[in-house]
Amino acid sequence: MVVRTVGRSLAEIVFPPVCAGCGSLGEGICPACISELDPLSRRCCRQCNRALEHGDQCAACRHQERRIDHVFVRYPYETPVRDAILRLKFRNKRYLAAALAGVAARALPDTLDVDALIPIPLGAQRERERGFNQSQLIAAQLTQWLPVPVLDQHLIRHRDTVPQMSLTREARWRNVIGAFTCLHNMSGVRVLLVDDVAATGATLEAAARALRRRGASWVGAVVAARPPPDRPLEP
Ligand SMILES: [Zn+2]
Ligand SMILES: [Zn+2]
Repeated sequence: MVVRTVGRSLAEIVFPPVCAGCGSLGEGICPACISELDPLSRRCCRQCNRALEHGDQCAACRHQERRIDHVFVRYPYETPVRDAILRLKFRNKRYLAAALAGVAARALPDTLDVDALIPIPLGAQRERERGFNQSQLIAAQLTQWLPVPVLDQHLIRHRDTVPQMSLTREARWRNVIGAFTCLHNMSGVRVLLVDDVAATGATLEAAARALRRRGASWVGAVVAARPPPDRPLEP
């Protein structure tokens, strides 16, 4: 049971939130560090993040008829967003989900029309080891900006995949295709997938395929950060 005192958990009182950028007390990423974030500037494919000279879709994505329509992301996978993601995932700093949801929300267009948020699931074993799914925590916080249901029992990852960070761009697509199954009928539902970070978009595409197979009429995604397209892939 989580002990709550005046709306704050015991863990927050004993270990108060610390800014992942400057270390100041109070918030996961403080307003000063948020204001210093540089948005991604390099033009790239809206689906796979490949660098482009013009347009928003690369030739490969156009020919392969991607099922993910658009990956919304505003900031590069760099300090302090990168630090916040790593601390959330590997040091159990769950309060950072709120800051990362705020960062992700800045990428969303005002006109976005979705019916539900679906966090990218972890494999059962990885979720057991970590004790939580970071995407689920971020999705729950994102409802402050997008007040729609979070469907976290619809999509399952029925096998643990090799961590994407260990793989080349091409191997990432092979690694995750077929890894997801949607358990429910999604006819006519417009879905926004939620994840912490996306590099090639392969994981999001694999999840989108599973949802579209069950009738979802539109699938997009929002993530807190993305490696700039001209950098080495990480994670
Ligand atoms: Zn700060
Ligand atoms: Zn592309």
